Amino acid sequence: MKSFYLYIKELFEGICNLILGLKISMMNFLRPKVTEQYPENRKTAQHFDRFRARLVMPHNEKNEHKCIACGICEMNCPNGTIQVLSSMVEDPETGRKKKVLDKYIYDLGTCTFCNMCVTSCPHKAIAWSQDFEQAVFDRDRLYCQLNAEGSHVESKTIPTPKTEGKQNTSTVNGQES
Ligand code: SF4
Ligand code: SF4
Repeated sequence: MKSFYLYIKELFEGICNLILGLKISMMNFLRPKVTEQYPENRKTAQHFDRFRARLVMPHNEKNEHKCIACGICEMNCPNGTIQVLSSMVEDPETGRKKKVLDKYIYDLGTCTFCNMCVTSCPHKAIAWSQDFEQAVFDRDRLYCQLNAEGSHVESKTIPTPKTEGKQNTSTVNGQES
């Protein structure tokens, strides 16, 4: 008789557990879907603003960027991921020599996305893109030149030369620094 009660008790517990499991399954079945179908969602995929896919140098419609080739980002990069190649050219208006950016080289393969370069840039010349599909078969393709061919620095970004008895001032994004 005792074994019969035990059998009934276990049967009841089994049915309860089965109902509980079905309840959880049904709740998940009816819950709004959060799984995204990739690659079908390529065009509609959204990322958080802080998502860092790769470093880019934004250019305006006149093919101008904001990089003055100061090299601060290169110095702050812990991995040697950035190379700022520059040269000195004479300004035809002032006759003074100034540094201009030749090539801004970025190696995506060694970047740890620490953001040190972006936060240390005094001119906000570099930023993060959100194009997350960066897989390549050839490692060499991870080396990129961020400044576009034929591009040059925005004229308002060029530092004003020091004048006697007056503090050096430059206008960046409409603000004096
Ligand atoms: S990206 Fe910014 S920090 Fe780097 S060289 Fe250009 S201006 Fe300087
Ligand atoms: S995110 Fe970090 S590792 Fe990558 S280039 Fe910038 S400073 Fe270097």
